[in-house]
Amino acid sequence: MGSPLAEHLEQLALVDHHVHGTWTQDADPARIANAFNEADTAPLADPTSAWDTQLGFAVRRWCAPLLDLEPHASPETYLQRRAELGELEVARRLIAPTNVSDWLVDTGWSEGLTSPDGLAALGGGTGRTIVRLETLAESLLPTLVDAGDWAEAFGAAVDEAARTCVGFKSVIAYRSGFAVDLTPPAPEAVAEAARRWHAGLEDGRAPRLDDPTLIVSGLYAALRTHRPLQLHVGFGDRDLDLASVDPLLLTDLLRRPEVRGVPVMLLHCYPYERHAGYLAQAFPEVYLDVGLATHFLGARGVGVVARSLELAPFRQVLYSSDAAGPAELHHLGARLWRHSMTQVLGGWVDAGEWSLDDARRVATLVGRDNARRAYDLD
Ligand SMILES: [Zn+2]
Repeated sequence: MGSPLAEHLEQLALVDHHVHGTWTQDADPARIANAFNEADTAPLADPTSAWDTQLGFAVRRWCAPLLDLEPHASPETYLQRRAELGELEVARRLIAPTNVSDWLVDTGWSEGLTSPDGLAALGGGTGRTIVRLETLAESLLPTLVDAGDWAEAFGAAVDEAARTCVGFKSVIAYRSGFAVDLTPPAPEAVAEAARRWHAGLEDGRAPRLDDPTLIVSGLYAALRTHRPLQLHVGFGDRDLDLASVDPLLLTDLLRRPEVRGVPVMLLHCYPYERHAGYLAQAFPEVYLDVGLATHFLGARGVGVVARSLELAPFRQVLYSSDAAGPAELHHLGARLWRHSMTQVLGGWVDAGEWSLDDARRVATLVGRDNARRAYDLD
């Protein structure tokens, strides 16, 4: 038996407020290795190098026993066992024990991945949808006759989506970065940008939306629904310019009256989690999580979880895995977060800085209750 705090964290059913589906098809070792590297978008020069990382070590430590192997089994043994079991069985074994009650799935990138309901079928709990604004825009554009009506048509599509989704997400971080004009664009500028974008349609397919005027006007369309708005912040793949996705660049946006009363979720944040913590203290609408970093940092995830609990009020910190693809990531998101929270909060209890009751209460806020309140989950 662990400490009372460890037991509390084990039995706490989590809300994973930012996650993607898991693979639906078997994967070969090269594909698995690439999924263990977030930043490099090219096939890895040496796939075995992905195992000599904090994430690779964490997979061998925590996932191997669930595939009937010894902890720290070699990558070769692990891959062989994984192939024997097949993707579906691996996913069942790794995702079922995560004890997640609600999966808030970003469906904007879903090729070869389970749906929200498919993920919930593997892991238990309820699958819910987060609509990605840029994907919604890219599917709407080819249906328009006159792109000059863009603002109205996109606003209607967002309102329609808000009837069934629990929140919206933007990947402006990937498309233009935050160092652009984030004030509401003039209607003429939006119409002109939409006509320009529409002119690039090929074979009925919209090109990738990377026009900041249209992306920013989309953010305001989402804010009007008062549904939580998720923003990718910090660490991602090399398509984004990490220097231009520091959340401090969002300060002017967060000062806007349109944001008042609308939860703004800063996702991942690494390596800017302290900047995000400051913004959470400065603006009552701002929430942050350290998903993605938790599993990529493995044994060092304890540090990033500790830093997420510095300046930010505890009612504005959330849990997410940001897992996508291999079920190891869904498993480790929850496993390493629980482990890190036990270490961090337990350390403060042992030092006499926090009471055990307060530690349990904060664990429940971050793991479950803050997300239930902000997303109005029943
Ligand atoms: Zn994500």
